[in-house]
Amino acid sequence: FADRDGLIWFDGQMVDWRDAKVHVLTHTLHYGMGVFEGVRAYHADDGAAIFRLQAHTDRLFRSAKIMNMDMPFSKEELNDAQLAAVRENGLDSAYLRPMVFYGSEGMGLRADNLKTHVIVAAWSWGAYLGQDALEKGIRIRTSSFTRHHVNIAMCKAKANGNYINSMLALSDAQRDGYDEALLLDVDGFVAEGSGENFFMVYDGVIYTPELTSALDGITRQTVMQLAKEEGYEVRVKRITRDEVYVADEAFFTGTAAEVTPIRELDGRSIGCGSRGPVTEVLQKKYFDVVHGRSEAHKQWLAYI
Ligand code: PMP
Repeated sequence: FADRDGLIWFDGQMVDWRDAKVHVLTHTLHYGMGVFEGVRAYHADDGAAIFRLQAHTDRLFRSAKIMNMDMPFSKEELNDAQLAAVRENGLDSAYLRPMVFYGSEGMGLRADNLKTHVIVAAWSWGAYLGQDALEKGIRIRTSSFTRHHVNIAMCKAKANGNYINSMLALSDAQRDGYDEALLLDVDGFVAEGSGENFFMVYDGVIYTPELTSALDGITRQTVMQLAKEEGYEVRVKRITRDEVYVADEAFFTGTAAEVTPIRELDGRSIGCGSRGPVTEVLQKKYFDVVHGRSEAHKQWLAYI
């Protein structure tokens, strides 16, 4: 991935993709203390546009604050950097990766001279779980790995080190032939996927877990708003795995996963065993909004 043409915004300047390098003693590489975002730009009717740019930048700053990392740039500069990364790479639709990390100015947990560095990379990307997954849904399994305890990792921060837990859960699920893992919290309630928030539909009502140990997903917020606008009732509550087994529908949301139906959990097919009708309505609405086809939500698009 490093050996390709393109430009990466690095500490305020565009640098050649191949030259966007750090030293092996980069602090974040050793201890995982860093924060990042996953953002997406779509081809909309009036050109390429970043979806909910401000919300992602705001979360990046909240993540940095939680981790006590000084941000050397303003929100405005970070917004501009993301727009520039898409524009200067000539992208029409893209995945963007802003990341804030400590450099190689010092080593060890007690290093007190660390500088915060920021990059924004952008590249062309298709459906995260494949086009088929968006139509037919995915097969998932409850993970044997528990989601973070709130006093062990800071779940409201999209922090680099938090993703060790996600990778353990995902690789385990994939090794056994599943598409994704469902992680439970320390009390055994549904938390989220390795990189997605969870929703289910039962008796016409949409349910999603509390955010205690899940990331405050921007797609989650978006889908909750769209669902309410469509007249659905959305309830936030603790959800058990057996509630999911008997749900009428279930789906994941995320910048990468968008709205991905879940057709099976732990060998039990969910509802009709394919994309359910409520999921389909919300998925269509979501795609209309991100592609600028919805007049009501144009303010969520930042045009390049
Ligand atoms: N949970 C986790 C653990 C994630 O990594 C993500 C992806 N950022 C999400 C949920 C979904 O968040 P968003 O909708 O903001 O992409």
